[in-house]
Amino acid sequence: MSEIVSHLAAIRETLPAGVTLVAVSKTHPAELIREAYDAGQRIFGESRPQELREKYETLPKDIEWHMIGHLQTNKIKYIAPFVTMIQSVDSARLAEAIQTQAAKYGRVIDILLELHVAAEETKTGWDLDELREYLSAHPFDRLPNLRVRGVMGIATNTDDETVVRRDFETLRRSFEALRPLFGEAFDTLSMGMSHDYRLAVACGSTMVRVGSSIFGERDYSK
Ligand SMILES: *Cc1c(COP(=O)(O)O)cnc(C)c1O
Repeated sequence: MSEIVSHLAAIRETLPAGVTLVAVSKTHPAELIREAYDAGQRIFGESRPQELREKYETLPKDIEWHMIGHLQTNKIKYIAPFVTMIQSVDSARLAEAIQTQAAKYGRVIDILLELHVAAEETKTGWDLDELREYLSAHPFDRLPNLRVRGVMGIATNTDDETVVRRDFETLRRSFEALRPLFGEAFDTLSMGMSHDYRLAVACGSTMVRVGSSIFGERDYSK
């Protein structure tokens, strides 16, 4: 059995029913994604629009592609025709630009609102207060080609479990606080990566985004 197949099986075993596994394949070639696909994995996450587009074109069409990285408005066009979910919606401007592209292709695109909870200032996402203010004007009433499915977030990058847990709890509380503003479809709390997904699941995650524990370390120079 290939390493990817055994890694996937080991991770799936730890995930309770109801938690979706997004295999984060950014930087890894299509052949490795194919191995995971052949082992039954159908949901993959990528962070660069052009790379995502190229992989979409070469790989089976029943893959669900999730955009998880920071997205510039001028690059939405590469993924709008096929992307299943954009997890990294972090501004009003981006939401409006996705609406334009989704409408152009006659699609409804699922999105997550990315919240900034980590200690690192460099990370992207809304502050909860900013997001609440934005939502108070009911912006999604005017964005019919977007379906808001929930919240995504990244915990502080630290070995201190207390801090990571606090970030996940903040995300879960925010998710619960926002849920009444949306309908039934608001059911996704995307949190947890290779090093912290077990804790994320313990804190209520419904979707984990796992890359290096499946595919190995990334080499960004390639
Ligand atoms: C790269 C990335 C991941 C996966 O990280 P690993 O540590 O490799 O599991 C998850 N979420 C986001 C937003 C990412 O950019």
